Amino acid sequence: MVYEKKQPVAISQSSSPVVDAHTHVFCWGENPEEGFMSDVTQRALLPRLLLWMTKLKRESGETLSAKMRNRLLRHLRESSLDYAVVLAQDAVYREDGSRNDAATHFYVSNDYVLELARECPKVLPGVSINLWRSDALRELERCHAAGSRLVKIHTSIQGVDPSLERFDPFYRLAADLGMVLMFHTGYEHTCRVVSQAYADPKLLARPLDHGLTVIAAHAGTCAVFDRQDFYPSFVRMMHRYPNLYGDTAVLATTVRWFALRRLSHEPEWLRSRIVHGSDYPLPPARLPFLLRTSLFPPERRNPLDMDLRIKRAYRLGPAYESQVWGLLSPATR
Ligand SMILES: [Zn+2]
Repeated sequence: MVYEKKQPVAISQSSSPVVDAHTHVFCWGENPEEGFMSDVTQRALLPRLLLWMTKLKRESGETLSAKMRNRLLRHLRESSLDYAVVLAQDAVYREDGSRNDAATHFYVSNDYVLELARECPKVLPGVSINLWRSDALRELERCHAAGSRLVKIHTSIQGVDPSLERFDPFYRLAADLGMVLMFHTGYEHTCRVVSQAYADPKLLARPLDHGLTVIAAHAGTCAVFDRQDFYPSFVRMMHRYPNLYGDTAVLATTVRWFALRRLSHEPEWLRSRIVHGSDYPLPPARLPFLLRTSLFPPERRNPLDMDLRIKRAYRLGPAYESQVWGLLSPATR
C-alpha cells in the first residue's frame, strides 16, 4: 500500500525533505467525475494564456486532462523537490448542503489526487472539502483514511466564510484527526468567485481557536491592482496565533512581485512560519527577480525548480523548504 510511506513514523525518520506545499492539477472535463472546468473558465483569458505559455499541447497524452497530468508528473519527477502537495478543488455547494454544479467553474475530485499519489511517490494528496456540503464530515474521514493529511478550502471560489459557527463540527473532527487545513487568502483572479471578502485572514480565528494547524495560502497577499490588501490582516493574525502559517504560492509572479521582499523584511519569528508553495502550473515570472537569480539559472527549465530558486533568494527562514513536512507529521509536532 503506497500510503505507508506517508505515515507519521516514516515521516519522522526522514531528514528535512524539500516539499512544495501548494500545487494544482487541472481537469478539462472529458470525464466530469474526475474534474472539469466550466465553459466560462475554458473560454476565459487566463486559462487560455496559461495553455499557450506552458506549450501544453506538445505534452504526451490523448486529452488535455491527460497532458496536464503527464506534465505535472514529469515536472515533479525531474525536479529537485522530494515531494509536492497536489491539491484537489471541491465544487460550490448550496447552503442546504447540496452540490451546485452550475455555479462550479473549477473542480478536481479528491479521488483524482488520491489516485495521483498512488501513482507517483512524490505526490502528497491535498484533498478539498467544501464546508457547506452535507457529507463534509464523512468525506473528511474517508480522505483521512485514504492517506491525506491536508484539506484545502477555497474560501472565495467555494463560497465559504470560515468564521461561521456551523462549521465547528468539521473543525473539531479535523483537529481530532490531526488534519492541516489550508485556506485560500487574498484576492483570487484565476476563476469566478462567490465573494473576495471570505479570503480575509481575520476570518480564520475560529479554526485556529480549535487548535488546528492552519496555512493561509498566499499569506493574504493581493495583486498591485486590487482594491484591498489582506496582508496586514495576515500579519495581525500571525501575532495572535502560533498555529497559523502562511505559504508563498503565486508570490513569484509579476503582479505580486513586491510580496516576497515584504515577507523577507518581517521579523524572524514570523518568517519561521512561512511554508514553501509554488501554485504550479502558474509559471513563476523571471523578469522581476533577474537581479537575484541571474539571467539564465539552470533551474529555468523546470517551473517547480525555478519557483524554488526565486524564493531561495529571499530570507524566508531556515525551515522554509521543509516546513510543511513537519506540519503533516503529528510525530514532529
Ligand atoms: Zn493555488
